[in-house]
Amino acid sequence: MKDLTINTAIEFDLPAPFVGRHLIAGEWVDGAETSERVSPSHGAVVSVSAKGDEAMAERAFAAARASFDAGVWSRISGKERATVLLKVADLIEANVERIAIYETLESGKPISQSRGEVEGAADLWRYAASLARTSHGDSHNSLGEDMLGVVLKEPIGVVSIITPWNFPFWILSQKLPFALAAGCTVVVKPSEMTPSSTVMMGELLMEAGLPAGVCNIVLGFGQPVGQVMSTHPDVDMVTFTGSTAVGKMITQAASGTLKKVALELGGKNPQVICPDADLESAADAVTFGVYFNVGQCCNSSSRIIVHEDIAEDFVARVVALSRKVRFGDPLDPETQVGAIVTSEHAAKIDAYVQAAVAAGATVELGGGALSVDGLGDQFYQPTVVSGVSADMAIAREEVFGPVLVVMTYRTLEEAIALTNDSEYGLSAGIWSEDIHTCLEFSRRAAAGTVWTNTWMDGYPELAFGGVKQSGQGREIGRYGFEEFLEVKSLVMRVGRSRAPWVKQDV
Ligand code: NAD
Repeated sequence: MKDLTINTAIEFDLPAPFVGRHLIAGEWVDGAETSERVSPSHGAVVSVSAKGDEAMAERAFAAARASFDAGVWSRISGKERATVLLKVADLIEANVERIAIYETLESGKPISQSRGEVEGAADLWRYAASLARTSHGDSHNSLGEDMLGVVLKEPIGVVSIITPWNFPFWILSQKLPFALAAGCTVVVKPSEMTPSSTVMMGELLMEAGLPAGVCNIVLGFGQPVGQVMSTHPDVDMVTFTGSTAVGKMITQAASGTLKKVALELGGKNPQVICPDADLESAADAVTFGVYFNVGQCCNSSSRIIVHEDIAEDFVARVVALSRKVRFGDPLDPETQVGAIVTSEHAAKIDAYVQAAVAAGATVELGGGALSVDGLGDQFYQPTVVSGVSADMAIAREEVFGPVLVVMTYRTLEEAIALTNDSEYGLSAGIWSEDIHTCLEFSRRAAAGTVWTNTWMDGYPELAFGGVKQSGQGREIGRYGFEEFLEVKSLVMRVGRSRAPWVKQDV
């Protein structure tokens, strides 16, 4: 494909494959079986990980339950918990390069984005540390002279944490420090495709002094490990990030014991581009939003809804910018878009594009696999598809690749209707210089996050999550922290003024 910006393979000595083991009750444990991860960009084995079974998951939950009940973490002070979390943040920063290299090799994402993900995660740990110290309930001092009511916040208990492959270290850090800050103990299962950064996190936790058994890690697949994590009677809550299909399976599995379930699932996130927008900034943000993390991003702005008067000009701007985005070797610090996670997933992306073309859509740019000199062809071209109607699969389903879908609108009412015409509701955005337009859209968009004149900015203080089939519950921020807390009401009589219930004169 001509006129794209391709970064061919750079000289780099791949590190030895990372060897990942389970972490159970503070001990690193080998598995009877192992699984290998072949790098999507470099075609070499980059990690060899223990492959967990039901027995290993049982051991992990026994350890998590025992440490919760012993109170070695759940009953210590918030100050003591915060001290450990702050140490973890420092250790993350000291280990960015080592973690980032394996994250890139396992996932195919650019090294600059892996570094950003790992560095940024340290801030989540620091913010969670602040919550560990400031967590509090309520007091009720107006129930009457002889009564005092206190609402206590307590750790929910043992938490299963199940994470996906697209942001392994970041998503772990959206959950784990908040669960730990609340006083929970956990069992973590990373994706079988990207387990190494989670194992490295386990190493940092041990170094920071987290008591044995508080965080246990079981490596392996959805079956059987994820299944045990959703059904085990010792589990009080499951927090899951991944596909909507697996989220539904987990909800069903967890219903047997009525566990609390928090879900961060897929999205089909629109950006609405109004005629009065700063089109230069909007085009840049749309380009970033669709190609960031190789488009394999729950927050990908995978569809844009552009006013028909400016659609041609706007698409031309995005196509021109797309040609300048640097695709290629993820280990090159200049690369912005790396490899697709598996060849099966690359085929799925292409199938969406070809089906849209067959249904009458127009490929403005890209639309096929990309071969990068020295690295093979598990890459996908920057792709812009216009003439898409709301009923096409490419407009409704998560493509999870570097593919932008263009739709048009005439009135704001129509733009809002198209925005909300989705089973998903993770995020949405609008570009306009008119504050009234931005506010009306923000109030009416069915999404967990709305961005106006920006895309994908996030902060540890702000809750994140979705509505409709994008999930349930919230992550990060105070609301995310509260998910890991149970509420207990304490009712105390002051003095002995209560009239007896049993009549003494009978
Ligand atoms: P996935 O659902 O295939 O797998 C996620 C995790 O679930 C993995 O660890 C996997 O081993 C495990 N798993 C699989 N089957 C299971 C089962 N039956 N029981 C328990 N666990 C099981 O998702 P993925 O392909 O790794 O990730 C991509 C998906 O994640 C996309 O849909 C994306 O939108 C979503 N995602 C959402 C967010 C968000 O915050 N909303 C963030 C990132 C990714």
